[in-house]
Amino acid sequence: MSAHNSMIFKKMTNHSSDLIFAMNDEFKLQEVNEASGRILDYDPQELKNGRLIDLVEKEELFFVLQSIEKSKSDGKEVRFQTRFLPNNKKAVLMELSVYWDREDKLYYCTARDLSNRTEAAVAINEYEESFHYLFMENPSPMLIWDFTTLKFVECNTETLKLYGYTREEFLQLSITDIRPPEDIPLILEASKNEQAYRNIKKRWRHLKKNGEVMCMEIKSSIINFRGSRSALVHLNDITAKVNAEEELFRTYRKVSDYKFALDESSIVAITDTNGTITYVNDNFCKVSKYSRQELIGRDHRIVNSGFHDKEFFAGLWNTIKKGEVWRGEIKNKSKDGDHYWVDATIVPFLDEEDKPYQYMAVRFDITAKKKSEENIIIKTKLLSAIANVISVLFQYDDWEIALANSFNIVGEAIAVDRVYYFENYFDLETNKGYANQKLEWTAYKADPQLNNPELQNLPFEVIADFIVPLREMKPFKAIVSQMPESNTKDILLSQEIKSILVLPIFLQDSFYGFIGFDDCRKEREWREDEVSFLKTLTSKLASAIEKRQNVLALEDALKEKSHILESIGEAFFAVDTQWVVTYWNQKAEKILNTKSADILGKNLWSIYKEEMVSSFYREYNRSMTQNVPSHFEVFFDSLSIWLEVSCYPSPSGLSIFFKDISERKINEEKLKKINKELALSNSELEQFAFVASHDLQEPLRMITSFLAQLEKKYNSLLDEKGKRYIHFASDGAKRMRNIILDLLEFSRVGKTDENKQTVNIEELLEEVMGLNRKLIQEKRAQISWQEELPSVYTFRSPLRLLFQNLINNALKYQAEGARPEIDISFEESDSNWRFTVADNGIGIDPEYFDKIFTIFQRLHNKDVYSGTGVGLAICKKIIENLDGEIWVTSEIGKGSQFHFILPK
Ligand code: ADP
Repeated sequence: MSAHNSMIFKKMTNHSSDLIFAMNDEFKLQEVNEASGRILDYDPQELKNGRLIDLVEKEELFFVLQSIEKSKSDGKEVRFQTRFLPNNKKAVLMELSVYWDREDKLYYCTARDLSNRTEAAVAINEYEESFHYLFMENPSPMLIWDFTTLKFVECNTETLKLYGYTREEFLQLSITDIRPPEDIPLILEASKNEQAYRNIKKRWRHLKKNGEVMCMEIKSSIINFRGSRSALVHLNDITAKVNAEEELFRTYRKVSDYKFALDESSIVAITDTNGTITYVNDNFCKVSKYSRQELIGRDHRIVNSGFHDKEFFAGLWNTIKKGEVWRGEIKNKSKDGDHYWVDATIVPFLDEEDKPYQYMAVRFDITAKKKSEENIIIKTKLLSAIANVISVLFQYDDWEIALANSFNIVGEAIAVDRVYYFENYFDLETNKGYANQKLEWTAYKADPQLNNPELQNLPFEVIADFIVPLREMKPFKAIVSQMPESNTKDILLSQEIKSILVLPIFLQDSFYGFIGFDDCRKEREWREDEVSFLKTLTSKLASAIEKRQNVLALEDALKEKSHILESIGEAFFAVDTQWVVTYWNQKAEKILNTKSADILGKNLWSIYKEEMVSSFYREYNRSMTQNVPSHFEVFFDSLSIWLEVSCYPSPSGLSIFFKDISERKINEEKLKKINKELALSNSELEQFAFVASHDLQEPLRMITSFLAQLEKKYNSLLDEKGKRYIHFASDGAKRMRNIILDLLEFSRVGKTDENKQTVNIEELLEEVMGLNRKLIQEKRAQISWQEELPSVYTFRSPLRLLFQNLINNALKYQAEGARPEIDISFEESDSNWRFTVADNGIGIDPEYFDKIFTIFQRLHNKDVYSGTGVGLAICKKIIENLDGEIWVTSEIGKGSQFHFILPK
C-alpha cells in the first residue's frame, strides 16, 4: 500500500471502534487502524507487519485460515466468529469479516469485539441456549446444510430419529444422499439458486436410511451459519397425510364412478315424504318420455299403468314409510302410452331420528326380460295347444268332430273370436272357383257365420285379396281398416272383423281350402310365432283332412292296384311268409296253366310238389330268408318252357314276376349253332386259301417261265403288238404271283409254330429299314422314331410284317417326287402298348378309314400306286390275333397315322 493510500486508510479507519486491518496473502498485517492497538493492547506499529496467526486462538486457527482462503477462492466476503488473543489478556470473541481484493492482493478485514459489549455477551449466551432449545431440542425435525458444499452441517435430534441415522453418519451426508436418484438432478438445479430457498415451502420425496420413501414438506430459509451461507430447513413428514389424501381421492373417485354408473344404467328419482318428485335423472326422462319439468313437482301416478292394484302400492308405501327398503317389479306407462317394466328399489333416507326425509327410487328397465317371459308363457300355451290338437285328431275317427274340437283348442289358445274352414270347389257350369264354409268355431261373443247364406259358396273373385296369396302357399294377414277398398274388405267389415289371418290348405300340391282366424275386438298385429303356430296346426288339420280323403282313396287304390297287376304284361303271383299264395294274375294262369281259383289261399309247394327240389325253391327260399331280390332263368321241365323269374321279398312275403322266354332261348341256341358252323367254314376257307395259293404258284411259275422263253426265243419274229401282248401277259402273271404270295401270307397269319419272345422294337425297325433300303434311298426318305423304344413280349415275325407293311405303305403313298418323312412313336399304359406310324403322304379320306383294312380293297389304280390290297388286311389280322386293335387317322394331303394297340 502506498504511503498516500496508507494515509487515507488511517484517516478512514482510525475513528472506527472496530478492528480494521489489511493483510497480504501470507496473512501478514499490512495496515491496522488505531482501534486495533486499543482492542488488542498492542502498539499499532507493532501490529503492523505482525502475523494473524499470532493473534487468534490456536484451536480455531485452522478454521480461521480455511475461512479466509475461501473468501479469496470464492471472491466473496466471509463472516465468522473467532477468538482474538490480545497482548497479555483473555481471549476476545470477535466477529471477523474478510474480503479479498484481487487488485490490491490484500485481505481487508474488520473485526468487531463481541466480548466487550455486555449485551452482546448476554445475547450470545442466550443465543446458544436458545439455539439448543429452539433447534436441537425442537420437537419438529430441522437441519442446516451448506450452500457451497451441499453438506449437512447441523441437524436436530428429531431429524436423526426421522431419517434413522446417527449424528456422525448424518453430518457426513449431503442433500443428495437423502433423495431418490431420479430427484437428484432437480435438487442440484435448485441448489444453484439461493433465492429458491429463501423462505420457501415445498414438497419433496426423502429417503430414510433404510430406503423407505417419505413425503416431506420443507420450509427453508437462508442463514449464515458458522460463517457459511446455509439453508435452515424445517421438515414436516407428511407421508401419512399424503397417503390419506390419495386414499381419499381414490375413494372419492370410486364413489363418483358408482354414482356415474348408477346414473348411466338406471332410472333414478328422488321424492319427498309425500311422494312429490324432487329429482329425476336423464334415464327417467328417456324411458318415461316426459321432460324433467313435467316430472318435477308431480308424483309417480304420472307413470302409473293401472296394471297393479291399490294394495300393491299400499304395501310399497307401508314398507318405505317404516324406513325399510322396498324392492319389486312395476309396470309403468310412458307419456306416449307404451308400457315398460322396471325392477325398482326404493331406499328411504333417514334423518337423525331415523325418520325418512326423502326416498330415492332406483329402477332398471326390464321390459325386454318381461317380454321374453311373456313370450315363453305364450309359446308354452301354443305348444300345449298343438299337443292337444294332435291328440284330438287321433282320438276321433270322425274327422268333422276332430276338426271342430281342434278349432276350439286353437281359438282359445290364440284368443281369437272365430276359426273356420272353407273347402274349395270348381263349378264346371260357371267355370269358376268357389270356397264353401264347412266348419266354424266362435268365441262366446262373436256371431257365428256358418249359416250366413252370403258366406256360402263364395266365388274366388269376391275374396281375391286372400285367394291370390293363398294359392301361392302364402298366408294372408291384415288389419281390416288398413286394407285398400275391395270386395273382400266389404265382406270382412260386414262381419265386424278387425284383424284376419288366413292360411291355405294344400292336399297333394293342390290348393284345397283354407282355415281363417278372425279377431273382432282389436286390430291385432299377428306375431311371427302366432303365425308359425297356426301354420303348424293348419298342416296337422290338413293331414287330418287328407286322412279322410285317404280312407276313400284307399278303396279306389286297391281296385286300381289289382287292375294294374292284371294288366301288366308280366305274369305275377305273390305268397305270404308261409308260402300261401295271396295273388295270382291272369298271365300267370296262362303261362303256368293253373287257375287262380285253384291256387289262391293254398301253399305254393302243395301245388308244385316236384319243384321243391328245383332251383325255383332254392331261389325263392334264398330271397325270402336272406331278404334279397333274385333274378334267374330256368327251364321248367313239366311244361318244357324257359322262364325268366324275378322275385322280390317284402315283410309280407314274396312277389314273383316271370315271363316265358322259350322263344328267346331257342333263338340263342340257334345262334350258337350258326356261330359254330361259321367257325368251321372259316377254317375251311383258310385251308382253301392256303392250298389254292400254294398250288396256284406251280402253274403260274410255268406260265411266267414259258412267257420268258417265248420272249427270248421268238423276239425277232414278233412284231411290236406281239411283244406288247407278251409284256401284258408276263406283267399280269407277275401281279398274280404277288397276289398269290400275299394271299398265302394272309392265310398264314396266326398259324405259326413260333413262341412268344421279348422283341426289341428298335432292332425290329432296323431290320425293316434294311428290307426297304432301296426304296428309302430312292425316295430319300427320312425315318425316325421315338427314343428308347420298348421291348415287347410277343410273336416276332408277325410284328415285323406289320411294321414292314405300314412303313412300306408310308413310303409308297406319297405325292410324286415328295420326300417321305416317317415317324414311329409309342405310348405305354398299364395294360398295353400303343404304336403310331405317321407319314407325310397323300392321306386318306375318312370315308375309307374302315374299308382299307378289308382284303383286296384299294383306293388307287395299279398304275398310279402298285399293290394288291392285302397289306392292311394282313395287318388287321395280325393285330386281332394278338387281341389288339388297329385304326387310322388321316387328313387328305397331310399324311396318315396308323395306330395299333398291343395288349401287354
Ligand atoms: P396295297 O397293296 O394297295 O398297298 P394295302 O392293304 O396295304 O394295299 O392298302 C390298302 C389301301 O389303303 C391302299 O391301296 C391305299 O390306297 C391305302 N393306303 C394304305 N396305306 C396308306 C398310306 N400310308 N397313305 C395313304 N393311303 C394308304
